[in-house]
Parts: sequence; C-alpha cells; structure tokens
Amino acid sequence: MAFTQDGGSFQPRKMFDVNVQCGQCGAKIDKLPFEPDPSRLSNILCRDCYRSKRQGQR
Ligand SMILES: [Zn+2]
Repeated sequence: MAFTQDGGSFQPRKMFDVNVQCGQCGAKIDKLPFEPDPSRLSNILCRDCYRSKRQGQR
C-alpha cells in the first residue's frame, strides 16, 4: 500500500496582508493568496473580478 486516503493533507494557504483596492470594482482587498507585486498593486483584482475576468477571456 503506497497510498493512504486521508482527507487531511490540504495545507492552509499562506495569505499576504495588503491594503489595496480592486482595480475594477474598487472593493477593499486586505488579503491576497499570493505575494503582491508592488509595481502592479493598482492592477490587482478582488476575487470576484479576478474570477469573472478569467471566465470572460480565454
Ligand atoms: Zn473587484
């Protein structure tokens, strides 16, 4: 048996504290799941806009 199935192998993602606004809807963003690039802070999208943007373009 090389594998065991336990559902507990997910690690919580490290969240980065930021203080920016969504570049699209202006929503406040105080946490990001990735390290923000300081030169692109004005282009950061909130989760909703990021998702809709990804769905809107291929
Ligand atoms: Zn947004």
